[in-house]
Parts: sequence; structure tokens; C-alpha cells
Amino acid sequence: MLIAENTVVSFHYRVSDDESSELIDSSENSEPMSYLHGARNIIIGLEKALEGKQAGDDVEVTVEAAEAYGERSEDRVHKVPREALSDIERVEPGVTVVANTEQGQLNLVIVDVAEDEVTLDANHPLAGKRLKFNVSNETGREASEEELAHGHVHGPGGHHHD
Ligand code: ZN
Repeated sequence: MLIAENTVVSFHYRVSDDESSELIDSSENSEPMSYLHGARNIIIGLEKALEGKQAGDDVEVTVEAAEAYGERSEDRVHKVPREALSDIERVEPGVTVVANTEQGQLNLVIVDVAEDEVTLDANHPLAGKRLKFNVSNETGREASEEELAHGHVHGPGGHHHD
């Protein structure tokens, strides 16, 4: 089966930082990842690379940051007064805090703590990184009407509705 629009694709993957070769994530010890092709469920660079491939092929692709998690932006690094984090238990570098914004929840990572100021980074942790994906063992099936209407996959590896 060829991977095309409206195909539900399940696959195993390994993703690494293309520069350092450091492994970032892998589905090795879990269920394969499932997505609805053409619905932007996964990063655009990977979706493009899988387009037209035969399900079952091994695919290795390097995805530029712009087609992965985006470029880093210094505009997304903010300094806030320490009091603004008064209800956060541990205010130290590396801790992620969740902020409720008008656009929904935003994850910010504390990158620096000074006496009266804290620096928060709202960039995605993988922003600015060129990623290498190794994709294997894909299977494909046609999406159901319901999946197409919802724009995501149901069942194993997909969304579960109550
Ligand atoms: Zn659904």
C-alpha cells in the first residue's frame, strides 16, 4: 500500500539530533506511532518524506528545523519577576512550568534563576534542531469516515474517545 492522503499509517521510529547523533526518542519499547496522512498530525518534514512511500519500506530522512519543531526564537525567552512564580514549588533551571494563556497551555522551561528574576524559555525543546528520523515497519490502511471527519486516528496508537 502506498502512503498517501487519507491513509492511516503506523510505524516505528527513532529520532536523533542530526548534529550530535544523540538519540532523542524511539518507539522501540512501545506501540507503533499512528497518524492520519495529510492531516498534519506529525511534523511536516516527516509527513512529506513518507508521502508516496510503500508501507513497509525503511525510510531515513533528515528534517530541517523549519519543517520539524521550528527555529528557535529569542523572542520566546522571557524574564519575569521571581514573585510571578511564587506558586511553583521548585524554581530552578531545567524545571518546566505550565502557563495558561489565551492560546491554551504553554510549557516554559526555567533556564536561569537570579535573585529577583527568572528567565523562562517558551521555545519547544527541539526548536532549532535538525532531526534525523529512521522509520521502519510501516503499515497502512484506509482511514474510516469518522477518522477523516475528526482529522486523527482512532484505536491503537491513536485517539481514544470516551
Ligand atoms: Zn476522534
